[in-house]
Amino acid sequence: KTPPGVFFEKKVIVGASAQELRDLFPVPVHEILPGSMIQALGAETLLQGRALEKGGEWIAFTAALAVFVLLLLTNVEGWAVKTAILALCAVALELVAISLQKSFPVIVPTASAHFVLLLAAASVVFRELGLHKLLLHIATIRQRNSERMLGLVFDDSFDGIIVVKSGGLVSAANQTARTLFQCDDLVGRNARQVLPAELVEEALAVLAAPPAGKPVPSIIEAAQIDGKRRFIEYVVTRSERTIANSARSKKVRTQAVACLTCRDVTLERESVERLSYLARYDAVTGLENRNGFEEKLEQVIVSAQATGQDLCVIQFAIVNLDQIIASLGFSYGDQLRHAIAVRLKNHPAQKAHWAAISADVFACVLDWQPDLEFGVIETVKQVVAEDYNIEGARISVQLNFGFVVTDNPASAEDLLRKSGNALARVRRDSQSQTLAFRPELDEQLQRRRLLETELFKAIGRDEIHLAYQPLVDLSDNSVIGAEALMRWHHRELGPISPMEFVPIAEENGYIVELGAWALNRGMKEALSWPSPLRLSVNISAVQFSRGNLVATVKEAFERTGFPSARLDLEITESLFIDDDLDLEFRMQELKALGCSFSLDDFGTGYSSLGYIPKYSFSKIKLDKSFVRQSISNRQDITVIEAVLHLANGYDMSVVVEGIETAEQADKLRQLGCQIGQGYLFGRPMSASSLSAHLANAA
Ligand code: C2E
Ligand code: MG
Ligand code: MG
Repeated sequence: KTPPGVFFEKKVIVGASAQELRDLFPVPVHEILPGSMIQALGAETLLQGRALEKGGEWIAFTAALAVFVLLLLTNVEGWAVKTAILALCAVALELVAISLQKSFPVIVPTASAHFVLLLAAASVVFRELGLHKLLLHIATIRQRNSERMLGLVFDDSFDGIIVVKSGGLVSAANQTARTLFQCDDLVGRNARQVLPAELVEEALAVLAAPPAGKPVPSIIEAAQIDGKRRFIEYVVTRSERTIANSARSKKVRTQAVACLTCRDVTLERESVERLSYLARYDAVTGLENRNGFEEKLEQVIVSAQATGQDLCVIQFAIVNLDQIIASLGFSYGDQLRHAIAVRLKNHPAQKAHWAAISADVFACVLDWQPDLEFGVIETVKQVVAEDYNIEGARISVQLNFGFVVTDNPASAEDLLRKSGNALARVRRDSQSQTLAFRPELDEQLQRRRLLETELFKAIGRDEIHLAYQPLVDLSDNSVIGAEALMRWHHRELGPISPMEFVPIAEENGYIVELGAWALNRGMKEALSWPSPLRLSVNISAVQFSRGNLVATVKEAFERTGFPSARLDLEITESLFIDDDLDLEFRMQELKALGCSFSLDDFGTGYSSLGYIPKYSFSKIKLDKSFVRQSISNRQDITVIEAVLHLANGYDMSVVVEGIETAEQADKLRQLGCQIGQGYLFGRPMSASSLSAHLANAA
């Protein structure tokens, strides 16, 4: 029973339902409702204007999409945070939809928006887990590759590399290091047991305190098992190793290690030592070379100055070393030099300091004792000059000595120059074997140098001319020819003898030009003589060896038109020493041109008569040294007679040089000499004087 008033001003719906009529309907939320109830609810909904309408799906969808995009764009770290944000968004979306539905008759379909959020969550998870794994995998591969490569580089490194931890434990070593220190199990060992002490100490010092500045390489000498010494260059650097504390902790700590980079520099070191040895020592003899000797000499000079001791510097030359090398070969030359050095070193008598200052010159410095005088040099001469037996060949050496004694030592260079000057003088003059330095030698050498430079300008300056000395027939004193003798009148130095300038010109080769000039000038001037006399021109050996004498003579004939039959070429015996000149062939060529040969200065040189029949001379010129004051010396007469006899046998005439007195001329005439030359018949004179002389005689 319902109290009255309940339904006042209300509409009442009366309905009935019956199960058997199947008037029951399942509805959302309220499960099963009878049909009348549904109708009542429907009517009520319509009366209240609350019929639900769908809407806002796109807005929800767009909002979800925006969240997704924002997540992608912003730097939110970690997949969990991202998925949490997405879940919150989904909840918020649903709450908004519910409240909208509650407040307004609007139902918002959120499925598509949720789908988007779900998709976003899935992609976040995939990205965070899947991509990360992939990247991790790639990174691991890369790391492994680079580790492998670094391992190869480490092991194959040209340098030995050893890593030492604090405490001195070797934590890594490459193959080169193992070979270098001859130890196969370096790693794990205490560095002190396996590495040189200096190296270990430096490594530990670097570990204890980081060095300031750049590491500097050092070199140590390490003994090897085989006893050989070995030089190792090394540098120690310090580096910090990063070690993780534990698997979870992200904190890291560092540990210092010393990295030893080592290199075997034995070969470089040895070649540097060899070079510095060669800079001071002679490789063949083991004696000091000129540099080393100069240094030594400077030291000796300093101590001699302190004690007031006189010093003597001796130089000696193996005069015939070139010939020995030419005939036996360089190795014999070297062995000979070595053998000489051994004798010098082993000779106990003198406390001399010997050096090999050039290929053929040895030098020494010793304290000079006046009572020893030249005894020192005589002893050295005896010791060194004794024959050598080298590989079965017996070798004799010819020695020249030059020395200087000084109580006022200037400099090493000075002493070497002075003793060298004395030696050079002995070598040039070959009069004696030993010479002491005198101050004149310096002056002579300076003059020689001056003449040498001036000589080159002499022809151009017209300072050279020819003088002619008559050759006479002793039977009637008639002039039969003239010898052209070169004269040099220097504009400042005055007349310079050919005895002085010809050897200089021979030494520097300028004689080739001078000789050609003399041939041309002589022929040209001889053509102006009143009678067709013979012309003799002196030829130096150097003109055969360095110049093309045949062509020069031929050219002179062609240029001047001088008849070749009137020309005599004067050559000296010195020409026959050098076998290489091919002399016979060239003399034949010159003879074919029409000229004749005179053998000049006969009796002064080698006086081996073997070459006289070989080279056909037309005249032998007996040297003026045989014409002494009265020619009464029995030996001189014997020589003159012998030469006359020899000349007769080979159909040659004899010219006697240096006749100064009528007495000499008479004596020579009696002995049977045919031709004479000398001041008696005329001094060397100018071409015009000779013409006047000839005109007078006629
Ligand atoms: P030589 O060819 O034996 O010349 C003879 C030298 O003896 C000349 O000296 C001459 O002046 C000198 N003489 C001549 N008669 C007498 C005398 O009665 N008594 C003395 N004491 N001496 C006399 P000169 O002119 O000083 O020449 C010296 C050497 O210089 C020459 O010796 C020759 O070997 C060389 N010579 C000169 N002119 C030339 C030249 O044009 N070419 C070459 N290659 N050498 C030359
Ligand atoms: Mg001559
Ligand atoms: Mg002569």
